[in-house]
Amino acid sequence: MKRWFCFLIAVLMLLCSCGEPSESHDAFFDTYLLTDMRVGPVSTPAVFNPASGSTTPLCFDPLCDHTAKADCPFAGYNAIWTPHYYDGAIWFQSAEGGKILEADIMRYDMESGKVTVFASQAELRSMIPEHINQDNGQSFGFFESYFRYSVRGADHTPAYQLRISLDDGEIEVLDNNYRQPFAKYKKLSLSYTPERATIGVSYGITLTDEKGNVKETILPDKRISITFDDLLDEGKLIYVTAAKREDNSYDWDHMTVWLYDMETGEDRIIVNNFPYSYIAVEGDYIYYSKYVDNPPKLGYDLNHSEDIFNLSGGILFRTNIHTGEESIAFEMPEYVLIGTEINRVGQYIIIDYRNTDYDTYTEDVSDRGIWYDYAKENGRIVYDTLSGMTAVYKEAVR
Ligand SMILES: [Zn+2]
Repeated sequence: MKRWFCFLIAVLMLLCSCGEPSESHDAFFDTYLLTDMRVGPVSTPAVFNPASGSTTPLCFDPLCDHTAKADCPFAGYNAIWTPHYYDGAIWFQSAEGGKILEADIMRYDMESGKVTVFASQAELRSMIPEHINQDNGQSFGFFESYFRYSVRGADHTPAYQLRISLDDGEIEVLDNNYRQPFAKYKKLSLSYTPERATIGVSYGITLTDEKGNVKETILPDKRISITFDDLLDEGKLIYVTAAKREDNSYDWDHMTVWLYDMETGEDRIIVNNFPYSYIAVEGDYIYYSKYVDNPPKLGYDLNHSEDIFNLSGGILFRTNIHTGEESIAFEMPEYVLIGTEINRVGQYIIIDYRNTDYDTYTEDVSDRGIWYDYAKENGRIVYDTLSGMTAVYKEAVR
């Protein structure tokens, strides 16, 4: 077991040493997808390697059940927040007893294999002034080299926010007007307008300096639901808006993907008829799943007495960013693609799927709840953008 561990570390170090010598580039992102995997009743952080299709838990002990009782350093891992990779370490949140608001921020050092408490939630909460109601809702998140924590006021705007440097653990209390950046362009940070926290759309995108002062708002007339920074190095921002009807109202069932040129201000639609979904970018293409015109029938849903269709058609689409031409990367009509779970790792596009045999599926009372769906099988389809080949990796329902 120990040898296994050393072997993996050696492989990781090797990969790191032959990565591009760019400061912002890290070979981890070209090798692994950070994820989690289910071991019995618990979830534990893991890495998925699209080249081999293997998922490896960060806890290497094959006999461990990843619980506090087993003394696992990943016990209490909270799978709601995606783990974060930064500079040779993986950060994640852990809550003993499953109390989400008491989750501590943990740091896993990939070289030493050690897990330590980076910041305790109780300590963060104790810093909040008494007049601020901590029950109004809180948000957490990692952005590059920071962990950010904020408490909202009754009107949903930030009432108190701080950030912790992942480099040295320094805690900085932020002004309430500070806007959390999601990307950087040249010396400026891009952030959403405050409306996104309250109604889910940003009225344009603000460009702020290092101190968070707003310098400019681009696309002020657009209601933006999500942006992608994959092409920002080339001066291009990809963003998604609801399609506009003839009477100027918004149609939230039909989104459009736009490409905005940060230098020239040119702004054009690249994908129409786009559901609330994500994209992955590799080379000259963006990859995505969307509604298809004649979705294939998957079966008859006995539970709700209706036909069930595969709305995605099992098709991974791609559009050439330069020409705007759309084509099909792969078509697998028996797989229901999950458009919000799409990622790029190196040359691979990874998209989650779910499958169910509707003709025989009977609802189980235990399936009900906010996470209820019909998934009987989960997995990932890996598309190799160089060879055009696909591979399916089935796994237990997460
Ligand atoms: Zn374990």
